[in-house]
Amino acid sequence: MNAVMNSLSSNVINTADNKFNFMEKRFVYADNAATTCISEKVLESMMPYLKEQYGNASGIYRKGREAKIAIENAREKIAKAIKCSPNEIYFTSGGTESDNWAITGVIESYKAEGKTHIITSAFEHHAILNTCLNLRKKGFEVTFISPDSDGIINPEDIEKAITEKTALVSIMYANNEIGTIQPIKKIGQICKNKGVIFHTDAVQAFGHINIDINEQNIDMLSISGHKIHSPKGIGALYVRKNINISKFIYGGEQENGKRPGTENVPAIVGLGTATEEALKSLEKKSQKIRNLRDKLISKILEIPETKLNGSHEKRLSGNCNVMIKGVDSESLVLMLDLKGICISGGSACTSGSDEPSHVLLSIGMSNEEAKSSIRFSIDENNSEEDIEYMAKELKNIIEKLRRLSKYK
Ligand code: PLP
Repeated sequence: MNAVMNSLSSNVINTADNKFNFMEKRFVYADNAATTCISEKVLESMMPYLKEQYGNASGIYRKGREAKIAIENAREKIAKAIKCSPNEIYFTSGGTESDNWAITGVIESYKAEGKTHIITSAFEHHAILNTCLNLRKKGFEVTFISPDSDGIINPEDIEKAITEKTALVSIMYANNEIGTIQPIKKIGQICKNKGVIFHTDAVQAFGHINIDINEQNIDMLSISGHKIHSPKGIGALYVRKNINISKFIYGGEQENGKRPGTENVPAIVGLGTATEEALKSLEKKSQKIRNLRDKLISKILEIPETKLNGSHEKRLSGNCNVMIKGVDSESLVLMLDLKGICISGGSACTSGSDEPSHVLLSIGMSNEEAKSSIRFSIDENNSEEDIEYMAKELKNIIEKLRRLSKYK
């Protein structure tokens, strides 16, 4: 790793020529599960609210009323996307807040009835895991269900874990690292039968998969804007109207008195536009992305001793997470960066940490295998040429790194 870092830094600072070469290289962004670029349409829709339409939505004069109308329009678009009522949507600062609020809000609200148990999975995002661990420290009971080796949660395991005390089941819709899609409808049905609230972190699925909260028995659902070409720092939480969820932060009466704070009008408008755009010809877009992704997977799997992590079939269309034996993922990410390619060596939220991914460990991979895994997350902005370029550069770099590490 150190050898790679040294060679990288000398490459970067070496000469003006090197810099020029770097600028000439192709740029491929394939880390869309970490974040996406803001689309032109989204930016265009936000601009008036960043400039002349700056009113506070609580104001009763025209400028305030216009801001309020813009917020309600966005709320309607999001509600339509998951087939709920607009007054069941609350805007938040993003997926992390939505997840924290969903879990803490339910447990705080139902603990007086003796409901002090939460069920979640071992491979959730840290926004869920750390919220649950914090609640466990405070005396609540938490059960972590492990996925199988394909990265899928067995609904029967959830059913077995439910007790009289269970207030909430929280299972992610699709995993952020390996992209595996969970049996949400079945888990929702079990929860419904047992009278337990079902929350799903749909940050990676929203805008990529058609969601119907009634059909799928979902009571609460977390959304994040920056995964679907809207800005960072905006998200939403859907809460079914019969659910009593306590406040998470305290202040004014915004968001029906449930989520105080002056609304981020431009970002809310952006999220509304992004939602509308994401759902336009969703099937066609997903098919295009899936074809590109499958091409990338088959090219990578031609390289000896590589493996796709997680189920191929039950997987987000843009996700390709692969293990490359004998190669350190961080070195790969940095060397691909020198070729103008952005990918991830795990989830962006854990980068900088030397720990193997908890997601990969949860599906039974060894520390070594987890540390040799990388994630490509492609979207509709990627092309066939991008796939060819990434596969070619990846193959060259793997050969180099394997030679360096004297991999046999
Ligand atoms: N949940 C999942 C599954 C995610 O992938 C992410 C972000 O990567 C989050 C929650 C956190 O969302 P945000 O970045 O909007 O706080």
